[in-house]
This record gives sequence, structure tokens and C-alpha cells, in this order.
Amino acid sequence: METKRKIKLKPAARKISTIFGLILTIILLLFIVYEVNIHQLTKLGYSKDAAKSIIYKFKKKDVMQAGRNKTLNKAFESSNYDEKNFTTYTKVNYQNHKDLIKNINALVKIGYTNDEINMILSHGSNQDVKNFIKRGKVKYLEEFYTIEYAKLKYYDRYLAYMDSSREDEETSVLYVNLGLDKEDYKDYVDVKDFSYTMLVNKHYKLDEKFVPNALATIDDEYVKEDGIKANKTAIYHAQEMIKKAKEEGYNLFVNSAYRSYQEQEEVVETYRELYGDSYVANYVQQPGFSEHQTGLGFDFGSLDTNQFTKSDEYTWMEKNCYKYGFIHRFKTTYEDITGIKNEAWHYRYVGKKVAKYIYENDITLEEYYIRFIDK
Ligand SMILES: [Zn+2]
Repeated sequence: METKRKIKLKPAARKISTIFGLILTIILLLFIVYEVNIHQLTKLGYSKDAAKSIIYKFKKKDVMQAGRNKTLNKAFESSNYDEKNFTTYTKVNYQNHKDLIKNINALVKIGYTNDEINMILSHGSNQDVKNFIKRGKVKYLEEFYTIEYAKLKYYDRYLAYMDSSREDEETSVLYVNLGLDKEDYKDYVDVKDFSYTMLVNKHYKLDEKFVPNALATIDDEYVKEDGIKANKTAIYHAQEMIKKAKEEGYNLFVNSAYRSYQEQEEVVETYRELYGDSYVANYVQQPGFSEHQTGLGFDFGSLDTNQFTKSDEYTWMEKNCYKYGFIHRFKTTYEDITGIKNEAWHYRYVGKKVAKYIYENDITLEEYYIRFIDK
């Protein structure tokens, strides 16, 4: 009979194998613990790279306490992570900026508080923040940047405008955002896209080739001179408005609406010859700077009088135009902002919702644009 031969190790070898087994077990256990930690962190919303970095830095407990936090995640992903700014990372709102962590570190170093850092980061792009950091600590941070639409990149212009005009912070921010600290017709914004809330004025210019969306012709019964064009939706609402006015005994008509860049050039020349330079400066916009090129600007007239300003139709329009999506664009009280004297006859289609807001709050389209469109 043959018995199984047992392999008998020598004592020394047995010892080595035990130690080896033990090491393997420890490695395996460590690996499991590591994987469990990674899993917990990724489940909480941290990326795998961030989770690894958290574990290597022995910050798991603190991170678990902080909970899901996008800024913290980015900090641990970044090579710029700075241990002493951990709390700041947890308190600063995430922004999609390439150098977010580097910028936060720099802002802490300058001496800004967490609230101030949040204020700075939310008012500009990555590049704007980088440029802002170069100024060191600024004097009027809260004064400007508690205003929602204030822009980091305009800090110097706000300061200069406030100094020279003696206006308050809010006015300075609004006026600079609108380019009112610059000369008319110079250094303007190029307006490219058509929309019912688009802004065209002495600081926002349309290209020579710009043509509004959906140009159509106004029906004969609403005009004196045939062939006046405008945006189709604006025409629909203008016609509805004229119909309603007529039912109530008011005789409105459309005197002018869309004018191309070239037509505006002709208008400027005609008025210059008729009334001179100062009239043109006050009432007629240079080509590209006229709202008539948008197809949304309308001049209305009264069939009963040539003086629209004194007509009952004007009074009716003042009260009712917003219901049809139109606003009275140039008023005496708006002159500082629009740069245009009162024009009783000129209205702008912006859509019903926006028109109602502008009417109820008695603001210019410029203010609406800065507050809600150009953020
Ligand atoms: Zn007009």
C-alpha cells in the first residue's frame, strides 16, 4: 500500500511562508479598505481622482463631514490644493473657471474673506478674476459687486465714472455697463443677433448688412404710405393695437417702421438739410445705431393731427401700448440713459411680458437689458 507523501517544509521555510501569507493578507485588507473609501467618496459625488487625492492626504473624515461639494472636489483634483485653505474651499461656491483653485488661493493671500471671494468669482470669467487679482485688495468691492449685474472687468471704469460724475455706485455701474462713459457712436458694442429684447442705441451698433427676422409688409389700412415693412410678429401686434384704438375712437396709423442701413443714411442727410446738425444729434440716429433697422421700432401718427405729442392718440398709447408688447422708447425722464429727447411717436416692440414689466417699473429698455439680458 502506498501512503500519501506529505511535503514537509523545513522550519525556516515554514516561517517565511507564514510571514509572506500575512503580508499578502495585510495588502489585501488595505486594498479592500482603500476601495471601500474610494467608493464612499465617489458615491458622495467626488471624482475618482479627487477621492484618491483625499485618501493620500488623509482628509477623508473632513471631506465626509463637508459632504458633497463641487469646489472641494475641484480642489482635490487640482495640483494647487493648499491644505490651509480647506475651509475656504468648502465655503466658496463653485464656478466653472479653469484656474478656480489657484485663484481662490491668491484671493485668500490678498486677504479677502470667503464672502468677498464669492462676490469676486461670481462677477467675471476666469480671465477677469486673474486680472482682478493683479490689483491686490480693492477699495470698493462691496459697493460695486453687491449689484448683481456689475462686471469685474469694469472696476476701473466704475471708479472713474463715479469720481467724475459724482453719481452713486448703482448709477455708475449701470451707465458704464451701457457704455455711457464713452463718446456716442464710438467704442460701441457690435449687435449681431435679432431678438425682441435686442438693444440698439448710440453705443450698440448694427452691421450695415443686418436685416431683421421675418420682415413683412404692414397692411394698407394701417398706413398712409404703402409698403412699410417691419418684423411680422411686431406688425401683428401693432395692427391689433390700432384696431382696438379705433374701436375706442382713436385714429392711429404707422408712419414708419423698418429702415435699412442705407435708408437711415438718407434720413440723416434729409434731416440735416432740413433742420441742421443739432436736430439730427437730438432726434436722428446715425446709420447702424437706429432702432428702425431692427424692424421692431415703429413711429405712429394720428390721422386727426400732425402734432402727435398733443394728440389723444398719444395719451391712449401711453396707457395701452404695453398690452400689445410695445413700449414708449424715448421719454424726457429717460434722456440721460437713452441720449434721445422725448419722442412721443416712437415705440418699440419687445413682446408683451417685457413691455408690461418695463411699463410697470417705468424703466428704459437699456435698464431692462442690463438687468436681465446682458448678465
Ligand atoms: Zn422712430
